[in-house]
Amino acid sequence: HAKASGRNCIRRFDPLLPRPDDNAGKLVPLLTAAIDRKLVSLVYQPIFELTNEKARAVEALMRLRMPDGTAVSPKTFIPVAERTGAILELGKWAIETACRDILMTDRMATVSVNVSPIQLRSQGFAANVADILIRCGVSGSRLALEVTEGLDMDMQSEVLKCIADLRALGVEIWLDDFGSGFAGLSWLRAIEFQTVKVDRTFLHDCSNPRGLMMLQDMVALIRNRGNTILVEGVETAAQLSLLKDLRIDRVQGYHMGMPVSAELLNAA
Ligand code: C2E
Ligand code: MG
Ligand code: MG
Ligand code: MG
Repeated sequence: HAKASGRNCIRRFDPLLPRPDDNAGKLVPLLTAAIDRKLVSLVYQPIFELTNEKARAVEALMRLRMPDGTAVSPKTFIPVAERTGAILELGKWAIETACRDILMTDRMATVSVNVSPIQLRSQGFAANVADILIRCGVSGSRLALEVTEGLDMDMQSEVLKCIADLRALGVEIWLDDFGSGFAGLSWLRAIEFQTVKVDRTFLHDCSNPRGLMMLQDMVALIRNRGNTILVEGVETAAQLSLLKDLRIDRVQGYHMGMPVSAELLNAA
């Protein structure tokens, strides 16, 4: 009957079609209660030094389970949490939990936690991080916050101020998924990152000569700036040996280590 109502008819109100945000609708109330209900957890993926193949750092990755036990990908729930503001509480919880799980056990030198631009723009974020560091009794230099290059990442002055305040605490700021969007170069221009994580698509495109050239160009760009280079998404031994040839500093990927719970990580 869509045709009958005219060629410009928008079908999204058809009650028989699933609404695209059906899942999001269920997620909204869940996300606000997720910490109390223990529906969120963190897993940790090792970050390896290529020179000695040892992991001295891990990245914290958030996991969400619905009450019935089904897992929801962060790619689904993080954007919803950003829209509703639930990311502010979840984000603080993630930083504190990562500091307790990883830094207070002294197994690893550093933990990196992903942060959303919403958090960097929010009032008092750097002060919250300072409180967490004091409560946990750990040095800020052992915490890294990963900022993902995204379309809406405008260089607002609040964000730059927040990053400066975090740097004053010793906290490192890493650029995540570099090259995945359109804003990466403007971020590199405006902010001094301690580590740049090259988006995994650059590694995965390396099977063709143009792709390899792109990765080499990315590496040269980051290296010339004196930043640490980390390549994500290493899935094969061949990729790892290519990255050794390119003298990448750090690597992360399923080939070297899967994300695991704090219990498993500390037992390993
Ligand atoms: P990301 O920060 O770039 O994290 C890396 C993602 O790649 C993770 O997916 C990880 O499990 C996956 N990965 C690791 N090694 C490999 C590999 O060898 N091959 C492939 N194909 N993938 C690999 P995950 O955990 O599903 O997270 C997806 C994204 O969700 C993250 O991308 C990050 O942007 C976001 N995210 C996760 N946790 C948080 C969080 O606590 N806060 C915020 N704001 N965002 C988060
Ligand atoms: Mg990340
Ligand atoms: Mg990220
Ligand atoms: Mg990434």
